Amino acid sequence: MLDTCGREVRTLRLSVTEACDLRCRYCMPEAGLAPRGEPLSADALVAIAQSAARLGINKIRLTGGEPLIRKDIVMICERIAKLEGITSLCITTNGTRLAQLAEKLRKAGVHRLNLSLDSLDDARYRELTRGGALAPVLEGLARALAAGFERVKINCVLIGGVNDMEIEAFVALTRKWPVDVRFIELMPMGECAGWPQEAFLSAEAVLQRCPELRPIGGEGVAVRYRLPDGLGAVGLIRPMSHAFCGECDRIRITADGMLKPCLHSGEEISLRGLTGEALLGALARGIGNKPATHHLKEGHSDTDRRMNQIGG
Ligand code: SAM
Ligand code: SF4
Repeated sequence: MLDTCGREVRTLRLSVTEACDLRCRYCMPEAGLAPRGEPLSADALVAIAQSAARLGINKIRLTGGEPLIRKDIVMICERIAKLEGITSLCITTNGTRLAQLAEKLRKAGVHRLNLSLDSLDDARYRELTRGGALAPVLEGLARALAAGFERVKINCVLIGGVNDMEIEAFVALTRKWPVDVRFIELMPMGECAGWPQEAFLSAEAVLQRCPELRPIGGEGVAVRYRLPDGLGAVGLIRPMSHAFCGECDRIRITADGMLKPCLHSGEEISLRGLTGEALLGALARGIGNKPATHHLKEGHSDTDRRMNQIGG
């Protein structure tokens, strides 16, 4: 379905929980956050996915909070992967439980995984996530590759003065494994909204540090590069330095059942309790009215939600 700006909306980011087992400093406060509402049931999530598919959505990404902490996550994936019209089912995860779940998720029909990983150094990872352990995440990555996931993507949020010294090490992962490493510019939301300007590093820093990277064209919101001997690509996702709203093809649904036509807009449409034609109508309204652009250039996001309450 097209929105009023003529963009074809094909992707749904569906959050299955606000809860998380990590406390990344830029995303969540140390004490956690009280949930904004009950998470949607598995039946409600599947009904939303089915209605979205009827409106032309073909790609669904499950997110959170941490989606893999939901006990029924494998069953949810199995049901969504079987829906008519859904050609791609992906999960964005912090990877803490991936070693146990990778094979089950692959068998359930999940096509792709995005693994969020902001440091390859044990101590820095622990500090950034407030207590997380790196080794199980790397084991999860190895299990995901062994389970046959196509093109696993590693997403690294760039934080000036915190992990930019690891850019070369992240890029080097594409020599070792057939993975895409994507650098994402930190957005001023929630916990990091008031951080000093130096933290908000332009992704151009990656090209300065690794001049051997060669452009290989864009894919969705990422511009892509490759090392001459790279097995995977290196992507830059630049919401701060290069607005990509013109190519945005996605809507989001929060774990408490609110449709967000734009990540950075305060506009929300409640889907809670809706079924059948009412659900379809509300989804169509949200897609049709996607805002033309966000206002990050003016230095702020207009949503009062944190990232774990939206899903990234
Ligand atoms: N817990 C899962 C994970 O970390 O992959 C899924 C949810 S998390 C909110 C989704 C993505 O949002 C992660 O890759 C995280 O790094 C990213 N994120 C969170 N806050 C952000 C911010 N202020 N700017 C840019 N990316 C952010
Ligand atoms: Fe949790 Fe993901 Fe937020 Fe980190 S970025 S605190 S893993 S929701």
